[in-house]
Amino acid sequence: MVTTTAIQPIKVHKSANLRIKELDYNKITFGKLFSDHMFYVDFKDNQWSDAQIIPYGPIPMSPATSALHYGQAIFEGMKAYKNDKGEVFLFRPLDNHKRINISAERMAMATIPQELFMAGLTELVNLDRDWVPDTDGSSLYIRPFIVGTDEFIGVKPSENYRFYIITSPAGKYYNEPVKVLVETNYIRAVEGGVGYVKASGNYGRSLFPAKLAQQRGYHQIIWTDARNHRYLEESGTMNLFVVIDDVLITPPLGDTILAGITRDSVLTLARDWKMKVQERKISIDEVLDAHKNGTLEDAFGTGTAATIAQIAQIGFEGKDYVLPPVEGRIFSNRVAKELDNIRKGKVADVHNWMYKVG
Ligand SMILES: *Cc1c(COP(=O)(O)O)cnc(C)c1O
Repeated sequence: MVTTTAIQPIKVHKSANLRIKELDYNKITFGKLFSDHMFYVDFKDNQWSDAQIIPYGPIPMSPATSALHYGQAIFEGMKAYKNDKGEVFLFRPLDNHKRINISAERMAMATIPQELFMAGLTELVNLDRDWVPDTDGSSLYIRPFIVGTDEFIGVKPSENYRFYIITSPAGKYYNEPVKVLVETNYIRAVEGGVGYVKASGNYGRSLFPAKLAQQRGYHQIIWTDARNHRYLEESGTMNLFVVIDDVLITPPLGDTILAGITRDSVLTLARDWKMKVQERKISIDEVLDAHKNGTLEDAFGTGTAATIAQIAQIGFEGKDYVLPPVEGRIFSNRVAKELDNIRKGKVADVHNWMYKVG
């Protein structure tokens, strides 16, 4: 859908009852407490208009709202960080903007102009900047999303949409090493499908297999290709990496792999460090062979929420394979620390990933 842009000033209705006092920086549960304000803008008559920042709260909607029935719902996940000087930075926000439009296009939804996305994002985060925690490892999690808002239950792309941004403080993520199960029955994504976009339905469909895996003592599923269940794709809702014989390997982007911004950042840093990097298919057989002959050095998932989630153990066809202790992992520990340091402004931001707010 082609959208015309008419950037008008954002109307701001400040909350008269700020809840920031309720925030205990030492006790933050992820995703439960939301900042004082939210942003939204409506798409109607083929254009975005009436951009507003209002107090965070419930949204009235018709039970016939199309997104509730047919799943025209897409989202992004990103973070803001505060450095020692109290300055607030977003990590690679323009990449989130590009990606939400890729999702919108695939789901036949209205795309959002970059200026509008960035204006809403920066004004909202700046207004609620006290909600960006500055303690070690903490951040403000930001959730932009677009939903179809037609009051109509016929099946067709919605004509009306609403783009929202809500934010929620996130404490230090305790990176407990994860036990993963290689899934050989259910699938997350298939060629020609929507696995490469951040569509809500991708998450909905993954919850049942994930629940079954959790009942068996695993934290996450490693998804495999839909055809043969031989090639590894993603780890839960994270991109997957392994290090075999000093080579960093990750599945190539395509229809079934989400183009993670953390994935790209990890690949960029690895290349900066002159590490051998391969974006190619990797089978479970290859990983288990490497495990057997002692060359499987590292395995981890990457994503905005955890950054790097090291894999401690891989379950496959009734057997569990234990990986080397996480403390001794050279690459995943180094890249996790480097990303942390870049985000907190402790090392030079040579790739211009940090975007200052205010
Ligand atoms: C969001 C997401 C990721 C990670 O993307 P980041 O940009 O690194 O947060 C990976 N896989 C899936 C399926 C996702 O939805």
